[in-house]
Amino acid sequence: MTTALPCPHGEHDLSIRDVEGHVGYACGECRGAWLPRSYLQSIGLERHFSVERFESLLLAQATSPADLSCPKHCGALQRSQIKGIDLDWCPTCHGVWFDRGEIAKLLAQYRSRQHKGGDDGGLDAGDVFDIADLVSGLFDLLS
Ligand SMILES: [Zn+2]
Ligand SMILES: [Zn+2]
Repeated sequence: MTTALPCPHGEHDLSIRDVEGHVGYACGECRGAWLPRSYLQSIGLERHFSVERFESLLLAQATSPADLSCPKHCGALQRSQIKGIDLDWCPTCHGVWFDRGEIAKLLAQYRSRQHKGGDDGGLDAGDVFDIADLVSGLFDLLS
């Protein structure tokens, strides 16, 4: 766990971020975030988030291989589009990469959903928004 992970976008390394006891990785350069499967699982235990449902959603919405490599050196990431947001994930270790722009979109959707105060009927939307919640915590630590 002490080995630095490279950012999928370049030469720089990701730094370890501890959010409410969950260990994720963030890039201080491009401000993306890498969440390993263990992170998603630990969110799941606390917030009743289903990692399995999220992963099946990623699989069902897969669009194309991403032009990015897994920080854990598994190979190319797979891109999926969920509710207009592109997420890149690793089919081998099941980590998920969030680009900064995609995090911004997630947060915008999250806020408008809170504003409406209800379910918009989207399948598994709550799961995705719960992740946005945690990812925003990750980025609060960076700024
Ligand atoms: Zn980066
Ligand atoms: Zn991987």
